[in-house]
Amino acid sequence: MTHVSDLAGWTLVYSGKVRDLYVPTALMTDDDTWTGDPLSLSPVVLVVASDRVSAFDQVLEPEIPGKGALLTSLTRWWFDRLPEVPNHLAYAEDDRYHDLPGIPERVADRAMLCRTLDMFPIECVVRGYLTGSGYKEYVATGAIGGIRLPEGLADGDRLPEPIYTPAWKAPLGQHDENITYERTIELVGETVAEQLRAISLEVFAHASELAEERGLILADTKFEFGADRELGIVTLADEVLTSDSSRYWDLEAYLTGATPEVRMASFDKQIVRDWLAANWDQSTQAEPPTLPAEIVEQTSERYRALVERLTLGL
Ligand code: ATP
Ligand code: MG
Repeated sequence: MTHVSDLAGWTLVYSGKVRDLYVPTALMTDDDTWTGDPLSLSPVVLVVASDRVSAFDQVLEPEIPGKGALLTSLTRWWFDRLPEVPNHLAYAEDDRYHDLPGIPERVADRAMLCRTLDMFPIECVVRGYLTGSGYKEYVATGAIGGIRLPEGLADGDRLPEPIYTPAWKAPLGQHDENITYERTIELVGETVAEQLRAISLEVFAHASELAEERGLILADTKFEFGADRELGIVTLADEVLTSDSSRYWDLEAYLTGATPEVRMASFDKQIVRDWLAANWDQSTQAEPPTLPAEIVEQTSERYRALVERLTLGL
């Protein structure tokens, strides 16, 4: 695992599976006994997407070259297309940011300067199609996150309408847990819970339409939101509608494909998930194996193809 830990003027305060968060070193405290959250000291955070890839909550070796830049350019592209939804990008014209250190050249294509938000501990998942963990839950219970679905659906089927199936963001080291909408009300209150659901469904509907115009199906996705510290408003954060956070399929293959593999020809992490599922037993708790070169190449190629299809209409 590589982390760029020496960005001039910035201090690494958090490393997730894929992203590293930095705050201006000048805003850090030099009190060694202080144990608070370093993010609370800074109104801005530099979110740097690495090339790391994770599946089933495991960070895998090796990295996927170019992935961080592709995720970042796609997130920016989607933010531009969602002007009505408040997002976490820092306001370029804000005077308070004048003293910030510059964004180092080395990470410029995979870094976003963002406002620090108070994140809600909820992964806002929306599914337009039935697959993955949602499909497994449906097979076991006939429902996902408490939402009953019609009988007889197959893996990959389109749902009657997109559904919101949130998950609780478990603290580091624990697995995220699917929860009901009612549980999200207990976690963040009714007003916020309603907004999270409404915005997630709205953005999903809008993005699905746009994807379809480019010959792509947006099968499902996950959003994260936080509260703006000054205004309190619910704000879209993290990455959005990328191949890490979403499943995208080729529309034509879906409509004409003979086998599930062809129908769900994916522009996302599915290649990695499928390979890992076939070559690693999750229950043994052993280290996952290293990805073979051809899986790394295919994944990189799919991620690039998605960005080109969506943003250039190729
Ligand atoms: P986890 O989120 O549980 O650490 P992860 O491995 O998914 O897991 P990454 O996505 O790699 O984490 O790291 C990004 C982290 O930054 C997430 O925790 C996300 O909630 C947080 N984050 C994203 N945008 C902001 C923001 N504007 N302000 C504060 N935190 C943010
Ligand atoms: Mg994440």
